[in-house]
Amino acid sequence: MTRRLTGFQPTGHLHLGNLIGAMRPLVAAQATPSIAMIADLHALTMEHDPRQLRANTLQVATVLIAAGVDPQRTAIIANSQVPEHSELHYLLECATGYGEAARMIQFKEKSAASKTVRLSLLTYPVLMAADILVHDCDQVPVGDDQSQHLELTRTIATRFNARYGQTFTVPEGIRPVNTARIMDLADPSRKMSKSTPSAAGRIGLLDPPEVIRRTIARAVTDTVGVVRVDPERQPGVSNLLAILRACADREPGPFTSYGVLKREATDAVESVLGPIRARYAELSEDPGHVRKILAEGKAWVQPRAAETVRRTRAALGLLD
Ligand code: ATP
Ligand code: MG
Repeated sequence: MTRRLTGFQPTGHLHLGNLIGAMRPLVAAQATPSIAMIADLHALTMEHDPRQLRANTLQVATVLIAAGVDPQRTAIIANSQVPEHSELHYLLECATGYGEAARMIQFKEKSAASKTVRLSLLTYPVLMAADILVHDCDQVPVGDDQSQHLELTRTIATRFNARYGQTFTVPEGIRPVNTARIMDLADPSRKMSKSTPSAAGRIGLLDPPEVIRRTIARAVTDTVGVVRVDPERQPGVSNLLAILRACADREPGPFTSYGVLKREATDAVESVLGPIRARYAELSEDPGHVRKILAEGKAWVQPRAAETVRRTRAALGLLD
């Protein structure tokens, strides 16, 4: 039996890249048992504002549902609300080397970029390993940014099994097929991200139509003057084409100018985001409903998670 886990950090507003790269594949694969996890514990690894975090966590849960994640088929959880994640995190820290964590690229980059570094930033990938292993997940959709962390998860699980006896399912990283990596519209050399300070290149899933229109109108292009896929020489135009292809329900073009490309992209994005925005507005009228879905998700996954922790404790020699 296959089980998948897809994580979303509540570090800001979900964007078009999250939708195309992660949420849609999750919705498309709902016949496979899946967990959609809001990684609110991971959001504590960097400077954060408690009120903002609470709001973001609820917003991510609401947007996931608005975008078609069906809580009857996919458990939607926050990792902080299932304490087995934290317990397994500590146990796995006792099976991970300092050097293994310290050489993670994300840790190096994020710690170099900030004045103070939380210890949890170093152990972030161990928490991610716990998120995956606690639910016995065998498939984890990962983009390039998380592939090193998934490799560490596999190393920890394999070593633990060899040293203390078979305890964990060793997960496989899977790459969602046909999903584009969406780039920042203002700087198409880097991916669209929740956490980049400037919103100029980001299309938020809840942005009003006027904001979407303006963001796309200002998207960086080039002086080549031809609409074609050439990520090397025309990253901005290629990105707009990828967005258009992912959002349009018919073959796009012909394009007589970049202006036509941008107008078509704007219409296509609006046709996808309009219904999500409307459903989000409905769901937001009853925040209790979303809270209840998170509680149900927790109740659904907890028995298996508790069993994994029990197995791990026993393997390590802790009393039951
Ligand atoms: P942060 O900047 O806080 O890391 P993020 O935008 O990278 O935020 P995550 O919460 O880290 O978003 O990732 C959620 C999911 O969305 C992951 O599966 C990730 O691979 C996918 N994803 C993130 N950015 C993009 C993008 N630009 N294009 C396609 N998929 C993306
Ligand atoms: Mg990310």
